[in-house]
Amino acid sequence: MLEFENVEVFYGKIQALRGINVRVEEGEIVALLGNNGAGKTTTLSAASALVKAHAGRISFAGRDITRAKPWEVVGAGLIHVPEGRRIFSTLSVQENLQLGGYMVKDRAAVHKRLDDVFELLPLLAERRSQQGGTLSGGEQQMLAIGRALIAGPRMLMLDEPSMGLAPLIVAQVMDVIREVNANGTTVLLVEQNARAALKITSRGYVIENGVTTMTGTGAELMADSRIVEAYLGS
Ligand code: ATP
Repeated sequence: MLEFENVEVFYGKIQALRGINVRVEEGEIVALLGNNGAGKTTTLSAASALVKAHAGRISFAGRDITRAKPWEVVGAGLIHVPEGRRIFSTLSVQENLQLGGYMVKDRAAVHKRLDDVFELLPLLAERRSQQGGTLSGGEQQMLAIGRALIAGPRMLMLDEPSMGLAPLIVAQVMDVIREVNANGTTVLLVEQNARAALKITSRGYVIENGVTTMTGTGAELMADSRIVEAYLGS
C-alpha cells in the first residue's frame, strides 16, 4: 500500500536519508525502529511531502506520490500524526477532533466518524468540552489519533506515540493502535520504544544512518541479538 524505494533526502548539504526501502501492505502494522537521528521522522515526512525526496520513489495506493503536494497525500488517505501531538491547547477536545475533518467535504461522514471516535475513545467523549491543553500526555496522544481518524485515513503514520508516557499509558496507546488497525486502517509506526512497538507489529524495519538495514517480523526482530542489544536493552 505504501512503498519507499531507495529514498534519499537532504536538509541543505546534510543527507538525512541515504536509501530507505520500506514496504507496508494493506492491513499491516509496520514499525520503523532506530536511534535518535537515524531518519525515522524524515521518512514519514517524505511520504507526507513535508520534505522533498531528492532521489528514489514513494508510492501510495498504487499512485506515485514522490512529487505530490501535502494536501494531495492527505486527500489520498495517508494521514500523519506528528511527534509531539500538536494539540490546539485552547480549543476543546471536540473542536480539536473537528479540525481533523477540515478537508473532508462530506460533513455527514465527519459527523459519523466523530461518533465512531467517541465510541473507540470514550475518555474523549467524557472530556469533549475540556480544553486540549489540560489533558494528560496520554489523553493528548489519544486526541491526536482521534483527530487523524476524523480525516478517514486508509493509512496512519504515527511518530513516537509513546513519547514521554508512563508504561501503563504506553500499553493503552498501543491497544488503541491495534484496535484502529483491526477496524481496517493500515499503520506505519515510528517508535524508540521498540519493545512496545514490536508487540503489536506484523513487521519492522531498522533504520541506521538514513539507511534501512534490517527487516523481519516482530517476533524475528525481538529474537535477533543485534536488535536486543541495540534497542531492547538486556
Ligand atoms: P528522532 O527520533 O530523534 O526524531 P529520527 O530517527 O526521527 O530521530 P530524523 O529526525 O529523521 O531522525 O533526523 C535525521 C537526520 O536529519 C538527523 O541527522 C537530523 O539532525 C537531521 N535533520 C532532521 N530535521 C532537520 C532539519 N529540519 N534541518 C536539518 N537537519 C535535519
